[in-house]
Amino acid sequence: MSKTKQRVLSGIRATGQLHLGNYFGAIKGMLALQEDAQYETFYMVADAHSITTPYQVADLRASRLAVVLDYLAVGLDPQRSVLFLQSAVPQHFELSFYLSSLVSVAKMQHLPTFKDKVKQHPENVTMALLSYPILMAADILLYKANQVPVGVDQKPHIEAAREIARKCNSLYRTTFPLPNFFNLAGEYIPSLTGEGKMSKTVDGSYINLSDDLATIEKKIARIPTDSGKGQVKSLSTAKTKLHDSVYFDANGQESKGVKTLMILVELFAGSSLRKEYEASYQKQGLRYAEIKKDLAKLIFEELMPIQEKRAKLEKQVDYVSAVIEEGNKKAQTEATKTILEVKDKFGFNSFF
Ligand code: ATP
Ligand code: MG
Repeated sequence: MSKTKQRVLSGIRATGQLHLGNYFGAIKGMLALQEDAQYETFYMVADAHSITTPYQVADLRASRLAVVLDYLAVGLDPQRSVLFLQSAVPQHFELSFYLSSLVSVAKMQHLPTFKDKVKQHPENVTMALLSYPILMAADILLYKANQVPVGVDQKPHIEAAREIARKCNSLYRTTFPLPNFFNLAGEYIPSLTGEGKMSKTVDGSYINLSDDLATIEKKIARIPTDSGKGQVKSLSTAKTKLHDSVYFDANGQESKGVKTLMILVELFAGSSLRKEYEASYQKQGLRYAEIKKDLAKLIFEELMPIQEKRAKLEKQVDYVSAVIEEGNKKAQTEATKTILEVKDKFGFNSFF
């Protein structure tokens, strides 16, 4: 492994099959950095993170494989990226424990992602959930990653990882680079319900990369809309790379589903069509049935090659196992170097 290249780390929880939110929020950035020769890319199945929320053993097993297959199907390439399982590299847990000595409980309790998951699973507020951002900081710092391609929901965790790195470097003279949030467009894909974000663990919120045309049509048809006429308010303080608007129906109620629909239109058909639709929304009105049908078709066209590749990979069990075994080994080698350095600097070196 070259030392002059910048490093990239990202991962996806093994909690189901990938959806459009993962695709735009994480995968697109992961692919772009894989193609860029100045980076060494490490992409893991974040299977240990899966147990921070309630899970079934059989589902975890199936999801670990599903994420690997999805990674390969979207074009992550084992020749250019290290593809591995987080749980196969025990140094993630080891570093996480060392780093936890640098973080206050209050800081973790105030992270928005922690508050969201507490709302989603009030009966499951575990230590694993609370310390999940520390494990994520360990994931990143273990590979001394400079760039972290993730969706905007993970931004507070990148900030936490930067703080941990800064503190660790200043207290123990470690050499962690401060990791950066990386995203191209689509850093936040809203749920099909219009409430919250698209999430693997929220039923009815997502379109999977493996959905067929009929399923996509059905899911898009269910996005709640309005009469087709209303007002658009463009947000000047757009925080995303996508055009940012809010939609109000004829009664002045916010149409959150229309926003989801328009974001998907922009991503799959371009911003000029979204602008045309916005103009019609404020004049003659929109006919959602047609818009939805066209959109479903565009989504399926983008997903079809991924699905064809995935179908082939499903039959290549030996190849897929070999890819992960090799990736695990490469990740372990790099992780061991960092852990040795950290142990030395924290005072766990040899007696003499
Ligand atoms: P879960 O419900 O299990 O948390 P998830 O759908 O939120 O699943 P994660 O595995 O937590 O997916 O996240 C994987 C990556 O996908 C992260 O980089 C995350 O920021 C990104 N991501 C997840 N959902 C979205 C979304 N709706 N829009 C943009 N990015 C997203
Ligand atoms: Mg998530």
